Amino acid sequence: MQVFKFGGASIKDAEGVKNLASVLHKVGYNNTLVVVSAMGKTTNALELVIKNYFDKTSELQSSLQDVIKYHNAVLIDLFDNENHPIFQKISLLFKELKGFLNTNKSPDYNFVYDQVIGFGELISTAIISEYLNGIELKNSWIDVREYIKTDNYYRSAHVDWEKTQKLIKSNFKRSVLNITQGFLGSDSNNFTTTLGREGSDYTAAIFAYCLNANRVTIWKDVPGVLNADPRYFENAKLLNKISYREAIELAFYGASVIHPKTLQPLQRKEIPLFVKSFLNPENTGTRIGKEVMLDPMIPCFIVKKNQVLIKLSSLDFSYIVEENISEIFNLLHLYKMKVDVIQNSAISFSVCVDNIYNNLEKLLHHLKAKFKVLCHKNVSLYTIRHYNDKAISQIEADKTVLLKQLTQETVQVVTK
Ligand code: ASP
Ligand code: MG
Repeated sequence: MQVFKFGGASIKDAEGVKNLASVLHKVGYNNTLVVVSAMGKTTNALELVIKNYFDKTSELQSSLQDVIKYHNAVLIDLFDNENHPIFQKISLLFKELKGFLNTNKSPDYNFVYDQVIGFGELISTAIISEYLNGIELKNSWIDVREYIKTDNYYRSAHVDWEKTQKLIKSNFKRSVLNITQGFLGSDSNNFTTTLGREGSDYTAAIFAYCLNANRVTIWKDVPGVLNADPRYFENAKLLNKISYREAIELAFYGASVIHPKTLQPLQRKEIPLFVKSFLNPENTGTRIGKEVMLDPMIPCFIVKKNQVLIKLSSLDFSYIVEENISEIFNLLHLYKMKVDVIQNSAISFSVCVDNIYNNLEKLLHHLKAKFKVLCHKNVSLYTIRHYNDKAISQIEADKTVLLKQLTQETVQVVTK
């Protein structure tokens, strides 16, 4: 048994769907489950629909129309005959979505979000399943919500492993090619839930775990996991092998290749994870497993842009001690700041944060009552795993270093 995951970028248009079919043809699809995300940027587009719905703006209809038009264009490219039942099927799904928006009474943003956003994956999988059946790649479409059960923490639901395992063990048919939705689950009332943005990798891992799969493959537009993000670094190199632990570390520091929750279930059962190019499916790509820490053993670079460095010192030159530190952390927690790096000395405390929830001004206001505060906005945080001198000087060249922290395996540099 193997699990494949195709992300939105791989199926952003009819070409992408055809390429998915060609990947299946080239690498084989015996005992395969294919997990699929919403097409292209559909999830973002549906987020806009939800926002317009709650803001009661006049753009609600046009934002929904954009999503419909986009999918219709894909349908027209994929299916020559406009009488094909898939047109009817997709239009029914959109009808259901509109029906929900018209009748919904819940003021709960997160609940509504999950009910609406899930249509992205329901639609993409319906299209792909139908297309594959049409070209004799016989498959069965399954509704993931009948398998993955979660709590009702909408938008970031937690998997109920016991129920999920039971359902998958007793109802999942292994011998056929199955197509299902990533990212979605359902709660005990059968309302749609989601596992957090970019959660489809995690879906693949959940199934692999419950099915005791031999392998998971994530198909991407890059040759595999690289030692640096090619958008920011020249000469990024392919990593052939990475251990689970190393991959978890890389994800922790912000490498965006794999959804962080994905690795742990796989590690538990020692199921290898392959990251491969959907353009060159026969190439080996990257293998994440338990054996090799990193091959080749070269520095790995992770950059997080647009971070905030806050430096605190006491107003009266006294030491920064446990009491102040615990107060600082309470405030960071209160304002939902994602902490990247901390560094403290006797009289100062520096913290680099990601201002995801836009609470920075409130936090600073609160801190200024107690501390002398120095704040650098829009700084970059570079993390290098397995660094050497050359790697560090490469990062520091023509930048002002505001903070630097070295441990045995990792160096972190905050620069302006
Ligand atoms: N479509 C969802 C998202 O864009 C899930 C995923 O792509 O993994 O977040
Ligand atoms: Mg997506």
